[in-house]
Amino acid sequence: MLMGSIHLSGSPQSLKKEVPISILKFIQKLLKIKGYRVVDFTFNNWCRELWLEVKPHKNGARCPKCNRRGKIIRTFDKPRVWRDVPVCGKEVFLVYRPREINCRKHGRVQENIPWAAQHARVTYRFEFLLLNYCAVMTQKAASELLKISTSTLSDILHRTITRVRKGHRIRGLTHIGIDEISYCKGRKYATIVYDLKRSCVLWVGLGKGRETIDRFFAEELSAYQRKQIVAASCDMGQAYIGAIEHWCPKATLVLDRFHVVKALKAAVDEVRKEQWRKADKEGRATLKGLRWLLYRHTSTRKDDDVQKLKALYMNGNRRIYRAWVLSDEFEQFWDFKDQEEAGDFLDNWCQTAMKSRLEPIKSFVKTVRKHRNRLLPFIENRLTNAIAEGLNRVIKIVKNRASGFRSLDAFSDMIFLTVGDVDIPGQIPARFRTL
Ligand SMILES: [Zn+2]
Repeated sequence: MLMGSIHLSGSPQSLKKEVPISILKFIQKLLKIKGYRVVDFTFNNWCRELWLEVKPHKNGARCPKCNRRGKIIRTFDKPRVWRDVPVCGKEVFLVYRPREINCRKHGRVQENIPWAAQHARVTYRFEFLLLNYCAVMTQKAASELLKISTSTLSDILHRTITRVRKGHRIRGLTHIGIDEISYCKGRKYATIVYDLKRSCVLWVGLGKGRETIDRFFAEELSAYQRKQIVAASCDMGQAYIGAIEHWCPKATLVLDRFHVVKALKAAVDEVRKEQWRKADKEGRATLKGLRWLLYRHTSTRKDDDVQKLKALYMNGNRRIYRAWVLSDEFEQFWDFKDQEEAGDFLDNWCQTAMKSRLEPIKSFVKTVRKHRNRLLPFIENRLTNAIAEGLNRVIKIVKNRASGFRSLDAFSDMIFLTVGDVDIPGQIPARFRTL
């Protein structure tokens, strides 16, 4: 049994006299429970849990809504328990019987608990640690460090993020990006709205298509805010283009570079597949490993790869070769500085590509021609797309980390935590941020 008091030397300034403090005070100092004191402690469950009974100092209880002192009416019979951060592998719990007070403004309310949010079952400190862990590691790893189950963890995570984001309004939005993303192993879709100027995610909505994005414009933005949008970026689908043109008619629409490139690469791959289907056993051997090679960006291509692609021409796989050359040429478009020159280049490229006799490439050309006016603004608005791609990458990492989310809540929580427009751990009161 731990008894008596420990002698600790004080701060360097007061080295002369040693300050004896009791073990309860020691615990209190160690755990930094301000405004309340530890009155008792017990080790439970074969020493795996440390239960701390805490009591308030003399000064009165405060209202959780207005923070004014109120008259104490009674103490609740049932104690409340809060989970705190584990210490040396032991789970720590705070136990306290809260009091009911009479606030002049809000009537009878339960007093404010300084170490935890209203209704929360964990302390601020625990929330802060949990948010920081989840931002950098898998939820499973975080749950092991915090000694809770994964389901409890995602439940606490959701509540904390929802509480922190509650009442948050979108501000200063001028460059908007819209994209869809699959989750739940590709079975479900969510629509994501980015602020491309500040490079963060503003909104995550269930589903894809016009209905979902209309909900964002109608519910999240005021008419004034919609007018402030000067540029918008999205994929080539009619749903988002239609929505942007409807809600922000004055905004410049820029097709997302990432999606355009993806469509072209898909067309090239289609050519490869056609050849693959036609080829005999020997022919297939020469086509092996081509798929990833064709998808690779010119800047990451190695000498070997170029040799392999050039060999296509020699081996008689000229269709694939032609598609590859065309897609390589198209990449120059993104480097133009002048919109007019870029337009000329695009027209020339389309003409050449139309002569290629490659059906998938030809249908890509049709798309490009249709969206010519939405492609060219990229030359002057180039900033927009690169950011969305960067965010997309982060979201993909988040997605992989959880190996498939079952609910949108869990998925959007992680998006908001890692690339959201609110610094979520930064919303926890400063004195509880213990990292
Ligand atoms: Zn009040």
